[in-house]
Amino acid sequence: MSSKVRAASAPMKSIGAESGYTSLRDDFEKLLTASDRVQGELGDRLAALSEIIEERNLLHALIDQVPDQLFIKDKSLRFLVANNAVVSDKTFLDGQPMSAAALIGKSDFDLFPAEIAQRFADAELEIMQSGDPVTTDMRENIDGKGWSKWVSMTKVPIRNDKHEVIGLLGVGRDVTSRKQAEERVQFLAHHDFLTGLPNRALFADRLGQAILASRRDGGRLAVVFCDLDRFKMVNDSLGHLAGDTLLTIAAGRMVGCLRSTDTVARLGGDEFVILLNDVGEGPDGVMRTIEKVRSSLSERVDVLGQEFTVTTSIGVATFPDNGHTAEELLTAADAAMYRAKELGRDNVQFHSSVVTTSAASKRLQLAEGLRRALANDEFVLHYQPQIDLKSGKIFAVEALIRWQHPELGLLSPDAFIGLAEETGLIVPIGRWVIKQACAQNAVWQAEGMRPIAVSVNVSARQFGNNGLVDDVRRALEQSGLAASYLDLELTESMIMQDLGQAIKTMKDLEALGVRLSIDDFGTGYSSLSALKSFPIARLKIDRSFVAGLSSDEGDRAIATAVISLGQKLNLRVIAEGVESDEQLKFLTDNGCDEVQGFKFSKPIAPADVVALMKRQVS
Ligand code: C2E
Ligand code: CA
Ligand code: CA
Repeated sequence: MSSKVRAASAPMKSIGAESGYTSLRDDFEKLLTASDRVQGELGDRLAALSEIIEERNLLHALIDQVPDQLFIKDKSLRFLVANNAVVSDKTFLDGQPMSAAALIGKSDFDLFPAEIAQRFADAELEIMQSGDPVTTDMRENIDGKGWSKWVSMTKVPIRNDKHEVIGLLGVGRDVTSRKQAEERVQFLAHHDFLTGLPNRALFADRLGQAILASRRDGGRLAVVFCDLDRFKMVNDSLGHLAGDTLLTIAAGRMVGCLRSTDTVARLGGDEFVILLNDVGEGPDGVMRTIEKVRSSLSERVDVLGQEFTVTTSIGVATFPDNGHTAEELLTAADAAMYRAKELGRDNVQFHSSVVTTSAASKRLQLAEGLRRALANDEFVLHYQPQIDLKSGKIFAVEALIRWQHPELGLLSPDAFIGLAEETGLIVPIGRWVIKQACAQNAVWQAEGMRPIAVSVNVSARQFGNNGLVDDVRRALEQSGLAASYLDLELTESMIMQDLGQAIKTMKDLEALGVRLSIDDFGTGYSSLSALKSFPIARLKIDRSFVAGLSSDEGDRAIATAVISLGQKLNLRVIAEGVESDEQLKFLTDNGCDEVQGFKFSKPIAPADVVALMKRQVS
């Protein structure tokens, strides 16, 4: 460009060669013309220049707009060109961000720790030597602390006209989201979708590794199989969403009880398994952790606005005692868990350890005894008065069974009802209770005692058994007791197990003239909408809520809610387990209809009922 400007100024040199005014003016005009021309030409040049500058800016702007990283390096691996994406989000060696322009002339050794720069350099020199492009996925450290961005980087050698390699072009694309998706797929292959816990495959893998490590160091491992009791009932009565919520909560609670070296996995359904490392000799170490897990799982849960508690059946197998492979240990723990279920749920069983054999054989002996107890007439009923708060009078008694065991003495129902349920013996035992309670009540009336009702507890197994309605009819007929003096206590959970069948049975019982109550109300999973359609007369506030009336805001809220629910649905409400004046006052103030509890009387023998009734009259 400068040579052209010089060429244009050539005519100016001839100005002084002329003489005279005219020639001077001519010269001047020529000069002006020349100057115009020069100016014109200069303008053209400038326009061309700015066009070029503009083009360059445009080009820069353009490559900066490209979201991919673009750079060119010369043969000595110094940056010749770099766009914004190469530097954006990044901090370099001095911990500072850098502009793309500042990169020009620098090499990776000016930007990254030597070790990393050397890796880049080795790879790039290899590309330039071989002449082959290479694409690699690499992680980029974008905040100077952790690796957090994935880039798919393609590096291509650049050649001149003579086909010699003179540098290298790099194109890098951010593939973080694709990588994350891949990682997620990887994760899902080894984890349970719902809870995020490891799945069976990953658990078996970790267990296998732990077994190898234990073989090496001689440590002891425990595999703890946990199965939530009655989870199916939640799922069936409240729906899958509730079931899923419960599982997620349970998973979180388990994780919270374990060390980071332990693993908890979900095997499917409501089955979880825990791997405890280094548990030491004897069951104590394992039991400490298990008790933590059990108590955490048994805390109240709120699922979709319904509160309840879950119990867990647990089976334990240890390495090397109960198996040598992951599969063997899982099977052994599963078998132990199964026995825990058989023994009435909510307990822990160790695989074929001394502890369990003795506990199991005790249960076996007890079951044998139960079978004989009916024939030997070893059961007795005690009766606990129920008081109407308006009149202050006893209007009913609840029949509560006891077992006069020949060796163990008087046993409370908690010691044997569960076993009776499992063995099915509860059906004949329950039949006996209904018969005995009706007979006793008829005797009281015949003796001239003021007529009261008798409440009888019905177990799930009995309720599901077709014979219940017949048993009740027969007991009434044989005793001659009017049906209105018999009340049956059902629980929410037994009703919810098979709602259709339950409503039919309840209607049949109602048709006999028997009254129905819902026992332990608030602890089960009743749907309130279903409650309306039950032919029931009474709700029984569970004694666990009554116990908390003085201390627990939640229990007070539940008790008042049950009372007002009863009032709205036109049901009587009775509170059980009333022990203190304070509880009684709260219940009275809130409109509860009836009470039962140690405050008035413990369950007592039939003769004592007569005496108590007499005292009430006088
Ligand atoms: P439940 O139906 O909830 O019976 C009430 C239990 O609460 C009784 O325990 C009673 O003694 C106790 N109780 C009553 N008032 C108070 C109080 O003020 N404070 C405290 N702490 N407890 C109080 P029990 O007799 O040991 O019976 C336990 C459970 O055994 C019963 O709970 C019931 O579910 C079951 N059961 C009792 N008899 C029978 C029966 O004949 N058949 C069936 N299937 N189950 C029965
Ligand atoms: Ca009861
Ligand atoms: Ca109860």
